Amino acid sequence: MNFVNEDIVALNRISITNLLQEIGTDEVKEEIIAGLTAKKKHISSKYFYNKAGSELFEQITRLEEYYPTRTEMSILKGIAPGLMNAYKGFDIIELGSGDSSKISVLFQAASGANPEQIHYLPLDISQTAILASAEELVNRFPHVSIDGYAVDFTSQFELVGRDRPALICFFGGTIGNFEWEASLELLQNISRQMKRGDILLLGTDLVKPEPLLHAAYNDARGITAAFNRNILNTVNEMIQSDFREDDFDHLAFYNQEKFRME
Ligand code: SAH
Repeated sequence: MNFVNEDIVALNRISITNLLQEIGTDEVKEEIIAGLTAKKKHISSKYFYNKAGSELFEQITRLEEYYPTRTEMSILKGIAPGLMNAYKGFDIIELGSGDSSKISVLFQAASGANPEQIHYLPLDISQTAILASAEELVNRFPHVSIDGYAVDFTSQFELVGRDRPALICFFGGTIGNFEWEASLELLQNISRQMKRGDILLLGTDLVKPEPLLHAAYNDARGITAAFNRNILNTVNEMIQSDFREDDFDHLAFYNQEKFRME
């Protein structure tokens, strides 16, 4: 999360623009302190993803208990050939691209003998994640060029420049990280940015038996617990506070009224 440095990275077939500094550290501090001093305290999920948090999340995606990643990957593998056939000449925009492993399934499906050029625009709060995944993608796929954006997609999606129709991907059930109102706002914002002919591909989970859900967010090795508590380290970095991870417990449970893991 680089809220301070102005960074534009330009490499062969990769450029990354960091627009996070436009938000500024004061606004970030205010947001965090408002959440922590509210009656029901909260911290925005985007602060999970400092360097350690992004790495822990990648470990989560490989856990036996964490079925969502492999399930979504297998659905994507099934639909990728049809998608990539139908939407030739589209830019591919991904919100919360993370390690970009899911989008690589689409690129793979479009990499025949004479593949069409693909323009990929990953958007993520973590510039480190965008850069690491972009380097891997251009090495694997000679027909892919990448313009990445380190942005907060809830407020900065409109700053991303493009001039072709777009296939907008939003995977990983990340929409579920938002409260109901905020998720509606986000979808409305995405909808406002969509132009005629754009497509939105949204990946989100369905309700499952409770033990399966519980296991997915309370893994035996405690990686999800470490990921959850690590948000306090981002908070410490951002507002110079002194939270200690050890003082907090990880508690993840299914909310039957809201049909979601909390
Ligand atoms: N799409 C990947 C990663 C999901 S985790 C997958 O399906 O596995 C959520 C991703 O969204 C992380 O990479 C995180 O850094 C990013 N993210 C979360 N909130 C964000 C925000 N407000 N703006 C931009 N990126 C965000």
